[in-house]
Amino acid sequence: MTECPRCHCPVDETDNFCRACGRSLRPGTGFVFSHTGIILLALVLGPFVLPVVWTSKLISTPAKWIYTLLLALFSIYLVHAFYQAYLLVQDAAQLMLGGGF
Ligand SMILES: [Zn+2]
Repeated sequence: MTECPRCHCPVDETDNFCRACGRSLRPGTGFVFSHTGIILLALVLGPFVLPVVWTSKLISTPAKWIYTLLLALFSIYLVHAFYQAYLLVQDAAQLMLGGGF
C-alpha cells in the first residue's frame, strides 16, 4: 500500500487514480508505457516512440537508455537498408533499360 501524494489517503499499488480525490497517481503509466507496450509501439513507430520511453514511469532509466540506443541503431539500420534498396532499384532500372548508359 502507498498513499496519494495529494490527499494522503491510502491507495492500492495498482490504482491509476486516487479513490478519494481522483488524482492521477501515475502519469506515464498504462500499457503503452510498459516494456511490452513500448516494444510493440517501436515496431510501428520506430524512433518516434522515444518520447513515450522517456515519459514512462514504469521502466528504469538504464532501460530507457537501452531503448534509446536500440532505436538509434535501428534507425541507422533502416537508413542503411533504404540506401541499399535504393541502389538495388537503380541497378535494376539500369538493367531494364539495357545495361545502363
Ligand atoms: Zn487522493
